[in-house]
Amino acid sequence: MMNIILLAPQSAGKGTQAYRLEKKYNIKHVSTGDMLRRCAMVDDSLGRSIKELIDNGKFVSDDLILDIIKDVLINDNGHNGFVFDGFPRNVNQAKLFDELLVSLNMQINNVILIDVSYDVIMKRIFGRMVCSSCGFGYNVNYDDQRPKVDGICDKCGGSLIKRSDDNCETVSFRLKTYYDTTEELIDFYNNKHLLYRVDGNDSVDKVFDDIVKIIEGDE
Ligand code: AMP
Repeated sequence: MMNIILLAPQSAGKGTQAYRLEKKYNIKHVSTGDMLRRCAMVDDSLGRSIKELIDNGKFVSDDLILDIIKDVLINDNGHNGFVFDGFPRNVNQAKLFDELLVSLNMQINNVILIDVSYDVIMKRIFGRMVCSSCGFGYNVNYDDQRPKVDGICDKCGGSLIKRSDDNCETVSFRLKTYYDTTEELIDFYNNKHLLYRVDGNDSVDKVFDDIVKIIEGDE
């Protein structure tokens, strides 16, 4: 079984790389952000409270996230493993995740940190569009990431929208939170000898090649 964690700031390309890993290795792409955005579309008290947190760039509770992850690990077992995108977000989640993995007799193979400069993050965030139906991501600031038809998803024909949390105020709050919490997370996985870095400023293809080399033990 192959279980990979991708760590990166928002818009660094985690979703794009996770999608490619899912296809190449038949591992399930687990995006906590996508799952929470789906919950936030439901007009009940849980959905509304999740929506408010997401729109303000705040984290949902660690307990809720762990429940979601546990449910996926137990029920989604038709794959060769999992690629985690957006989880864990802090050391507490990482420790709870370790306990959960032990209880399920599973382990993490690699934690891959996609390093991206501040300027590139900004260019990507403000060009980013997602499909309102299947969640697939596009970027209108990059030739190779535009949809074939403006505003329409190539994969399912759904309409493309901007994420409600991709606005100036929320973006800077989320970036600050990322830098504040990720350093500790990097140390946590470094100490376990699981952490690898790739240069996320490169093209999507180059970043993917670098990730594959790590996973296949060529780095
Ligand atoms: P993302 O799509 O990964 O950027 O996540 C979007 C939003 O979902 C975040 O800003 C948080 O509000 C929430 N979220 C996603 N993953 C987590 C997590 N592991 N822990 C807490 N909140 C999360």
